[in-house]
Parts: sequence; structure tokens; C-alpha cells
Amino acid sequence: MGLGCRETAAEFRASIPEGEEHHVSENDCLFCKIVAGEIPGDVVHVTERTVAFRDINGQAPTHVLVVPREHYANAAELAAGDPVASAELVTAAAAVAAAEGYDDYRLVYNTGAGVGQTVFHTHLHLLAGRPMTWPPG
Ligand code: 5GP
Ligand code: ZN
Repeated sequence: MGLGCRETAAEFRASIPEGEEHHVSENDCLFCKIVAGEIPGDVVHVTERTVAFRDINGQAPTHVLVVPREHYANAAELAAGDPVASAELVTAAAAVAAAEGYDDYRLVYNTGAGVGQTVFHTHLHLLAGRPMTWPPG
């Protein structure tokens, strides 16, 4: 079911059964718009369920965000709602790391504003290409 020309986004969303809202794009979600191609992203890898694009403010020589095509607010909601897509984020990140020549890389999910999540569409950070310290800041 898609958005028809006579159907407003609000009507479409109202037609989605309760609990299934995450299966549609959020109106003002930055990463939904990148997935939809409505705003540009430097896309480096795509799979059936994921899209990977370079972070606009890279923190390492490779800093790629891997996101599910469908909107989920965070990693745990994605894992509960679509475990296949959740696994695909990790395998996609590994494929990007390998394609860029890295055996060693860091994967990060921020969940909640208190630890730095700023975009509330699940995204797996892939960081590689420089030494990294532990614990993180
Ligand atoms: P968070 O802080 O939520 O874990 O990560 C959000 C990430 O999205 C940040 O690393 C930030 O640099 C990146 N980001 C924010 N806006 C954009 C954008 O418009 N395009 C891209 N490619 N990355 C963005
Ligand atoms: Zn979204």
C-alpha cells in the first residue's frame, strides 16, 4: 500500500493498524528521507533491508551509518520488530568494512539522547581506519 495522490500522509498513517506504525516512513525523519532518496546521501552499500551511507561528520577515515529501510527508533526496537533486518545491519557493516580494506572496526549504537543519539531512526555506526581507545567517552 502506497501513498496515492488523493490520500494524505495523515490518512495513510491513520489506516495503519496500531503497533504497525514503524513500517512507514516518519514524516520528518532525516534517515527515512535519505533512504527514500528525498535528500542526498553518500550511499556506499545497499541490501534488501538496509542502506549504508557516509556520516556527514565523519569521526574516522571510514564512518558509515547503516540503517534499516523501515523506520524504527532504536536498535532494540528494530531487533524486536525485525530481527532479520537487525542482523542484516551487522552483516552490511562488515561488508562495507571489508570493501574499504579493514579487518578491524568498531560498531556503535547510541540509544537515547543521554548517550548522544540525535537521529531517532536506528543506525549502526561503522568506524574504522584509525586507532581507537576504550572505554569510549
Ligand atoms: P547519533 O548521534 O544519533 O548516534 O548519530 C547520528 C549521526 O548522523 C551523527 O554521527 C551525525 O554526524 C550524522 N548525521 C546527521 N545529519 C546527517 C545528514 O544529514 N547526513 C548524514 N550522512 N549524516 C548525518
Ligand atoms: Zn526514519
